[in-house]
Amino acid sequence: MRPIQMVDLKQQYHQIKKEIDEAVLQVLESTVFIGGKGVQDFSNNLAEYLGTKHIIPCANGTDALQIALMALDLKPGDEVITPSFTYVATAEVVALLRLKAVFADVDPDTFCMSPESMERCITPRTKAIIPVHLYGQAAPMAKILEIADRHGIPVIEDNAQAIGADYRLPDGTVKKTGTMGLIGTTSFFPSKNLGCYGDGGAIITDNATLADRLKMIANHGQKVRYYHEMVGCNSRLDALQAAILNIKLPKLDTYNASRRRAAEFYNQAFAGLSPVTTPVVAPENSHVYHQYTLKLEGVNRDGLRDYLEEKGIPSMLYYPVPVHKQKMFDSVDLGQLDLKVTDWLTERVISLPMHSELDEEQLTYITKHVSDFVHR
Ligand SMILES: *Cc1c(COP(=O)(O)O)cnc(C)c1O
Repeated sequence: MRPIQMVDLKQQYHQIKKEIDEAVLQVLESTVFIGGKGVQDFSNNLAEYLGTKHIIPCANGTDALQIALMALDLKPGDEVITPSFTYVATAEVVALLRLKAVFADVDPDTFCMSPESMERCITPRTKAIIPVHLYGQAAPMAKILEIADRHGIPVIEDNAQAIGADYRLPDGTVKKTGTMGLIGTTSFFPSKNLGCYGDGGAIITDNATLADRLKMIANHGQKVRYYHEMVGCNSRLDALQAAILNIKLPKLDTYNASRRRAAEFYNQAFAGLSPVTTPVVAPENSHVYHQYTLKLEGVNRDGLRDYLEEKGIPSMLYYPVPVHKQKMFDSVDLGQLDLKVTDWLTERVISLPMHSELDEEQLTYITKHVSDFVHR
């Protein structure tokens, strides 16, 4: 059996090595390392794949969130609602821009932001809402957008974990995650579903005026070279990463289908295992399983992790500390938080290996050992 990893980047690379190596060598030979046709092609290809008008490539998913918020022209102290049950970047950029992060709770089944909790967080100072499509399935966008629209608050979708996932709106139209809010953001960190071989990110919008502004912010606040209209940042997707992404994007659906097959294998194996709850997929969602995350009830989680590690099976906690309990927010007045589900989930989740190259032998081995531990 091949060694089991949370994400097996080497195995995936070897399957596409010839194409990747050729594309990388072409960039080296061209010496166009910043910008160029490959970056433009990738932006166009991703826009077409997602069914959106504008893609602004940038340096990483955190920058994408930061630039999106900067484009909204908010004032220090303006409030931005995000879940606390997410990767820290979602809320970190809020604090970095001297805005106030207001944390909403999540749904205990889907792990995504609860629209009810979100609505309770809204005040006259709320100027943006950032739902996260956590672990690979969409947050309940129909409700979130309805509430946000009613209050006139823009929505930024953090789509770093769900690229390629579909969401069915109440009128039946199917949208890709990241394309429903005013702005969407994503990351091409190597372990994401569409990962490059370094850092990368992108911002998604249908709005042409906003697209110009986002582009300007990502490029030192300039539209015309050396004429800087506003304070921006320097955030670029480089040509090598774009060349790699141009090869991997057409394979994204196949990769996501492999993840879905692995998830189904896990689901079946754990179906009768009552202390373990398998991921719940909302009926309007297609899940792309960035993570395969179980909820444990009455199982010693650390014990299970140690046992699996002994057997050569890695596992992870996403995330061991929710954002509102991170030290970085110690000095911030977080107000009256009601994050019961977040706190409850943080104690119970465990993520198993999930990637597009897991084979049946590995899956059988993993599920057997999880079951053995739970039963003993
Ligand atoms: C990975 C991730 C990010 C940040 O992406 P980077 O490219 O690492 O900056 C932001 N939000 C979520 C939910 C993520 O999973």
